[in-house]
Amino acid sequence: MESDVFIALGSNQGDRELNLLRAVAEIGKLPGCRITALSGFYDTEPVGGVEQDSFLNAVLRLETALAPQELLARLQGIETDIFKRRRTIPNGPRTMDLDILFYGRQVVAEENLAIPHPRLHERRFVLVPLAEIAPEFIHPLLQTTVAGLLAALKSDERVTKV
Ligand code: AMP
Repeated sequence: MESDVFIALGSNQGDRELNLLRAVAEIGKLPGCRITALSGFYDTEPVGGVEQDSFLNAVLRLETALAPQELLARLQGIETDIFKRRRTIPNGPRTMDLDILFYGRQVVAEENLAIPHPRLHERRFVLVPLAEIAPEFIHPLLQTTVAGLLAALKSDERVTKV
């Protein structure tokens, strides 16, 4: 059982708030999983150069008996089955994006799965909701707290709590 798993949620198509609420509910129903914290919802400016609508983002903490690859497969199942997500434009619009940020202090470097998520420390839209629920969590590779990573961030994309 791992109790410090953090998942980022993001949506910029359809009813974004309803999408996040539905994703939280679906993650909570996964076998051997229990949600133990949920951040507020943040309206955020898209990054990555694709012209598209703004996102709604949040982060949750999960206690889970699923191994990292099992958890990834379940999250991808939610993206495709519940949200009918099709992978088209990289970094483009999506009804739901679910990323594993941390799986406790475990480091995973596999072809289809990298934990900690390799770009989390560069993304204000991840760090702001993460810092709301886990400011003292230490990034297992960078050895810095989430609050420290956020304080060190240079980029200034807009992240507004709704
Ligand atoms: P995206 O289209 O941004 O959702 O990227 C999905 C791809 O990222 C999938 O093919 C995953 O296998 C891969 N991936 C690598 N690391 C992670 C992670 N920590 N969480 C979620 N997806 C990941």
